[in-house]
Amino acid sequence: MKATYRALGLFSGGLDSILAIKLVQEQGVHVTGIHCHSPFFGYPDKLAHWSDLYGVDIMPLDISEDFVRMLAQGPEHGFGSVLNPCVDCKILMLNKARALKEESGANFIISGEVLGQRPMSQRRDTLNIIRREAGVKDCLLRPLSARHLDQTEAERSGMVDRERLLGFSGRGRKDQLALAQRMGLAEIPTPGGGCRLTEKESARNYWPVLAHTPSPVAADFFLANTGRQYWHMEGAEGSFRLIIGRSQEDNTRLLELAGERDLLLKTRDFPGPVALGRFGGREWPAETVRSAAAFVASYAGKAVRHAAQTGEAITMRVHSGSLDAPGTLLSVLAERSPALLWREFSWEEAKEAIKASGARNNDI
Ligand code: SF4
Repeated sequence: MKATYRALGLFSGGLDSILAIKLVQEQGVHVTGIHCHSPFFGYPDKLAHWSDLYGVDIMPLDISEDFVRMLAQGPEHGFGSVLNPCVDCKILMLNKARALKEESGANFIISGEVLGQRPMSQRRDTLNIIRREAGVKDCLLRPLSARHLDQTEAERSGMVDRERLLGFSGRGRKDQLALAQRMGLAEIPTPGGGCRLTEKESARNYWPVLAHTPSPVAADFFLANTGRQYWHMEGAEGSFRLIIGRSQEDNTRLLELAGERDLLLKTRDFPGPVALGRFGGREWPAETVRSAAAFVASYAGKAVRHAAQTGEAITMRVHSGSLDAPGTLLSVLAERSPALLWREFSWEEAKEAIKASGARNNDI
């Protein structure tokens, strides 16, 4: 009787990862997908849907804190065209997969990398670096490009038949789409998308967190995914971070993400956004709280109109950690403009700062 082998396959939800897993499944290997997620990528809430759709068991793997630590230390292999540290990311994911393989007794690991698909992170020499630094030299199979790569233990020992693996290479998607069709995939994911670190609009919010938070944690980046992001820089003194909800969903999320020393600001008598002032290791001076309250008030349209008609100030509630905690009231004039303490970072500024920090940019 033929033995049943077991493999773990990195499953991002992208087409290559699905095809790689299905290809090995077709050889009778039992594959469990591993879906890594963090503030920057991953859709753990889609796993049940994907499992049904593609016929693969998939388990979520939260790598948030490890990923943030790697980002904060500065990725050894640098960034891609935006803030995406693809080589270090793959090393981290495969390293985690290796630990799971050891725990679970699986026979090998699969990833959907395709030789030459990305100019840097999927070059032959980089694929070798990833394999070596993740400690998966002997146990990583890349089924879509296997015929271009060295034989792996899974092939040598007959767990999989190398002849039935593929020799994809390059940037095109034609081969992948033909294979998806041949396999009858019920849904073909669109290319790209899925990693916010490749998007300038997200990266411009992540960079100041990395640069101005002494020991950032995942929650700091979940916050960066929510609402409008403002900073007040005080030179060498440090910085203050203010996030203002843009929608009801943002407001709810900000309340969920608030730490017990974070400030929460909201209009008392009128509808308006929730704003969160992140506690960055020191108390906010009174004038900074007042300026934040005046700035947040400017986003409460009804309050601003009422103030303009009556000349009355706007009353803001200021609480620590929860809107239900005892708080204080501040009367302010809405202040959006000027000598504005509060400002957003643009991607261009972030990019300059990344360059100035000496971080490698490989334009992956
Ligand atoms: S695009 Fe994002 S998820 Fe993909 S390898 Fe790069 S950093 Fe990791």
